[in-house]
Amino acid sequence: MISFYPGPSRVYSQVPKFVKEAYDQGILSINHRSDEFVKLYQQTKTLLREKLAIPDPYSIYFTSSATECWEIIAQSLIEQSYHIYTGAFGEKWFQYTKKLNPYAIGYQCDHNQPIVAEGFDFASGDGVICLTQNETSNGTCVDNEIIGAFREKHPENVIAVDATSSMAGVNLKFENADVWYASVQKCFGLPAGMAILICSPRAIDRAKSINERQHYNSLLNITENEVLNQTTHTPNVLGVYLMMRVMEQVQSIDVVDKLISKRAKALYKTCAQLNNYDPLIENPAVRSKTVITVKGEEKTIQAIKSKAKKEGIILGNGYGALKNDTFRIANFPAIKESEVKTLRKFLKSLE
Ligand SMILES: *Cc1c(COP(=O)(O)O)cnc(C)c1O
Repeated sequence: MISFYPGPSRVYSQVPKFVKEAYDQGILSINHRSDEFVKLYQQTKTLLREKLAIPDPYSIYFTSSATECWEIIAQSLIEQSYHIYTGAFGEKWFQYTKKLNPYAIGYQCDHNQPIVAEGFDFASGDGVICLTQNETSNGTCVDNEIIGAFREKHPENVIAVDATSSMAGVNLKFENADVWYASVQKCFGLPAGMAILICSPRAIDRAKSINERQHYNSLLNITENEVLNQTTHTPNVLGVYLMMRVMEQVQSIDVVDKLISKRAKALYKTCAQLNNYDPLIENPAVRSKTVITVKGEEKTIQAIKSKAKKEGIILGNGYGALKNDTFRIANFPAIKESEVKTLRKFLKSLE
């Protein structure tokens, strides 16, 4: 079966080999306070920095999930927050934050229009601006220039970005925001159970001034451990090891981005030519490159999913309110060229 599910998604074919290697080398049982772990953590961070073009002053942490990152940010960085979103994941982030912090404000935007940074005036320079760079539920994205425009208009605010289904697949300009995170079961092509959290010095300064230390995963505890290449708890050592091995193999993000862009273009074109289906997002400026959402009638959506399954292709279900009248196609780097070809051939055969 070829999975185009946008998370958990296809893992790199080398993953079983790397797991065996980790077992054979005793990595699965190393003590997380040992020199071996310190080296592993250090090396993995160095590779992430190199391959994804993460600026030197930014810190890199390993957490358990993007959901945990929502909570870490709400606990440790937010007194007031502004959530600008077009879909279910951005809204979920807003709702999770509101439970921990009543001063969260949500701005639901049209999924077919680019978000206009200039249109937002925030009362407080201390507020955290929360953006979902790639909205996995509807297949939209917020491009680097828009995040850059928020940076320019709101130089004092901490900007936090959910890049769960785009980091490691598209070239993100980390300089334009302060907090970035992604869980690894999407564009990283790894098994679920870990996430990457990236923070600028400004974000860490903000955490220091708030000084929240109520939780094991308070950002200050995480930061104080990270400078020693340590973690607050026994981490997912296998996950870190797999991340290191995968990062050794992948090409640098500008090369990956080009490939993903090219594939996305071809996939959108193929989807636009279908008879009973259309890309959900009409405006090419906001179309995600990594998650393609296609709409149709409920029964035709069911039909295409079962037909694909018979041909060994798993299409992703729709998400949230879009569950029944859309399907989704992951265009993640671990998916092979030949698999994308097979999918396009299948889609073309429907015409
Ligand atoms: C998948 C996803 C999440 C949640 O990830 P978990 O690993 O389940 O916590 C959050 N945000 C976006 C944009 C996602 O695609």
